Amino acid sequence: MVYSANEQRYDAMPYNKTGRSGLKLPAVSLGLWHNFGGVDTFELGARLVRRAFDQGITHFDLANNYGPPTGSAEETFGRIMRTELAPYRDELIISTKAGYRMGPGPYGERGSRKSMLSSLDQSLKRLGLEYVDIFYSHRYDSDTPLEETMGALDQAVRQGKALYVGISNYGPEQAREAIAILKRLGTPCLIHQVHYSMYERRLEQGLQQVLEEEGVGSIAYSPLARGLLSDRYLETIPADSRAAGGSVFLNREDITEQKLAKSRQLNQLAAERGQSLAQMAVAWVLRQGRVTSALIGASKEQQIDDIIGATKQLDFAQEELKAIERILS
Ligand code: NDP
Repeated sequence: MVYSANEQRYDAMPYNKTGRSGLKLPAVSLGLWHNFGGVDTFELGARLVRRAFDQGITHFDLANNYGPPTGSAEETFGRIMRTELAPYRDELIISTKAGYRMGPGPYGERGSRKSMLSSLDQSLKRLGLEYVDIFYSHRYDSDTPLEETMGALDQAVRQGKALYVGISNYGPEQAREAIAILKRLGTPCLIHQVHYSMYERRLEQGLQQVLEEEGVGSIAYSPLARGLLSDRYLETIPADSRAAGGSVFLNREDITEQKLAKSRQLNQLAAERGQSLAQMAVAWVLRQGRVTSALIGASKEQQIDDIIGATKQLDFAQEELKAIERILS
């Protein structure tokens, strides 16, 4: 049956301006790092994307290497586009990235013009798209002059293969330099995709200030600390959770008693605010409008529903913020 999107999808979601650009992003965006690979069922991915879009999530984030196997998340999303979302292309912001290991040999990773532009061509083929909305340099590459990597991003826009460009995982000084080069080239840096949550605070150590000064937006990835800032692990490690699966980035050893003790206290505080811990974690990264969008992952439709609820209460009292800092310290 042909998918027909919820007509009320734009009623509740806040949309925030991305830095000084004219582009608005939803307060919550969905990433396809996990649960969209060739190892997952297509139907699950399609259900998650439909549930997200039906509630105003217009931004879907990918990378060349998301899977497993690498490339398969883009193939899955390409199939969802073809079979379900094709009529809605102009309502979607689709991003992809290049920089981490994707293919064999010297051109299968990093930031050379050769790697970046061939990777984008491959991504477009897998996605079945003529262009992506945002093309990122996934990481800073000390082996390649920054002018070359930024030149590749600029060229992608001039070729009509990307509408905007961004950087991810760059430190404050690397970001400042990249932003300046892109400005000179005439393709302003739209956004920085950065690891940020109550448990990961590096954004606050200089990078936030650079982005604000330069008018560049920010999108916080893993705002739930990959599930640790939710009720997922408070009692046990569920068999269907990321930590119980084969993830290199969250495994049983990461679920420490110390982290759980903090998450339990935060969970109590969230309950006093009338929120789930996952909702409070998302509201916290978005507090005071510092971050443009919270980039979440999900393995179930109910998780998306829960997170969307965060947008009903994004404000924090000063006492609540202080209580959070006390728990984290
Ligand atoms: P999160 O911190 O949001 O973790 C998502 C996981 O948390 C879900 O898979 C689920 O775990 C659990 N979860 C989500 N919602 C709920 C809920 N309401 N209640 C309970 N548990 C919940 O983000 P991710 O680590 O998945 O990263 C999000 C996106 O960020 C990626 O898909 C990718 O697009 C981007 N990213 C970018 C990086 C970069 O280098 N630029 C690096 C990493 C991510 P479970 O699966 O166990 O159910």
